[in-house]
Amino acid sequence: MNKRNDIEFLNKLTILLKKKLSPINTMSSINRLFKEYLNTEEIRYIIWDNNNMSLKDFNGEIISAEHLSENQIISWAYSNFSIKKGKTFYFNEHEYNCEPTEDEIREIQADKDEINTVMYPIIENGEVFGLISLKLKEINPNKEFISLIKISSLLISGSIINYLLNEQMEISLNFYKAMKDIAKIIETQYELSYIIPLIGEMIDRFISSHLIYIFIKKEKEYKLVWPKACKDKHIYKLLDKITDKTEYEISKDGKIGAFPITNDETTQGVIVAYSNIEKLLQKDIDYLIQLTRQSGLTLQRANMYAEVLKYATMDALTGLNNRRQFEIRLNQEVANSKRNNTPMCCMMLDVDYFKKVNDTYGHAAGDCVLKDVAQIIKNEIREYDIACRYGGEEFFIILPQTQIKEASLVAQRLRKVIEEADIDISGSGAKNITNIKITVSIGVCAYNSNMSADETVQKADKALYKAKTTGRNRVIIA
Ligand code: GH3
Ligand code: MG
Ligand code: MG
Repeated sequence: MNKRNDIEFLNKLTILLKKKLSPINTMSSINRLFKEYLNTEEIRYIIWDNNNMSLKDFNGEIISAEHLSENQIISWAYSNFSIKKGKTFYFNEHEYNCEPTEDEIREIQADKDEINTVMYPIIENGEVFGLISLKLKEINPNKEFISLIKISSLLISGSIINYLLNEQMEISLNFYKAMKDIAKIIETQYELSYIIPLIGEMIDRFISSHLIYIFIKKEKEYKLVWPKACKDKHIYKLLDKITDKTEYEISKDGKIGAFPITNDETTQGVIVAYSNIEKLLQKDIDYLIQLTRQSGLTLQRANMYAEVLKYATMDALTGLNNRRQFEIRLNQEVANSKRNNTPMCCMMLDVDYFKKVNDTYGHAAGDCVLKDVAQIIKNEIREYDIACRYGGEEFFIILPQTQIKEASLVAQRLRKVIEEADIDISGSGAKNITNIKITVSIGVCAYNSNMSADETVQKADKALYKAKTTGRNRVIIA
């Protein structure tokens, strides 16, 4: 090895490490450089991943899921890096030798290209959390060569530490974002059927390597509320163990975790994380405990809010009549129509592909759409028509004293105005877009005096369903 090449090698290595390529690209460029200048056979970077409490190949593969002491790391490294008789192994600047078994001696004798393995620790604040391991083709590397490797290992260690810190920082940021998002849902909504799927999605996005389920307690039993199905018997078995006193419960094989959602010291529900590959990691468990706590607070606030709103008549988001008020008004109008033998029509309206709006621009943008649609409905109907928010993105309009012909004209006009409107989502925080287009489907029906209020709703709903299945953005008259 000549001096000029050594300097050139260190120079190239320094330039490479400054480039801030992705970890994978950096590592493979380093490998190439080592191969070219130092004639190495292979380099591996094994790090202690605090996140997963396991050793990890820096290229991403987790080596072992157990927590190991420094001594264990050494012996682990021994057994994993084909260290054979007479080979030198450096760790924390100590030289180790390894006594091979008879089998290994036989193996060495059969092996013509002998390889030395040299290892250097990756140290941060005096704590060893990884190894750089080099397989060398040179049998007995001299002192100069060893110091060259030592310097380059130090340089590489610095880069790996930076990568790890960035990775950790990103996980923390995502975690706090997930917590904030869960806390924020309640600002506009209080319906549990809407909130729970959002919580599920947010936890799922953060803990993406495991399946997430949410169960709510109903009459002493846990009912799955998100997602739609869960067939795993082990999960239900674990749920049976949850009492009001449970902090959390992990299955025997370590793959399922059940985290109770509590309110006033009683269990209201359970968030379950299920990993079908590996055990749940301590870090995930810590995150899930906090995410569940936050979810519990959000649900508790939603319940309180819903309780207060029970006595309200107005939907908080749109300013229309709420569902409760809708039931009252529809019954009144049905009675009126029956008594006075006057015509009456109903309209059920549903935003087309609304889920897509939420998914593309965010829920705040979806809320803007609902507000705008409500405003258009208010503008387009007569003063004595009754507009209600029926559920999520569904509206119901009662048209007293109205014949079906007239109702159908109103519906057509409404559909067209909505189709042509530029929906303002600028207040939603969606990036690079201020306006979007949407359409609605509408089912219209006429009331006749034999029908109950419920039957009237069903009839309008059926027409709406037909409008959906025949292409959307249309009006269907029952
Ligand atoms: P379709 O054309 O068949 O009606 O499709 P869609 O996507 O509109 O229908 P779907 O019923 O699958 O989706 C309705 C979505 O509305 C799901 C739910 O997350 C969302 N949603 C319900 N309530 C609210 C709300 O108050 N605000 C927002 N932003 N979204 C809501
Ligand atoms: Mg719908
Ligand atoms: Mg819809």
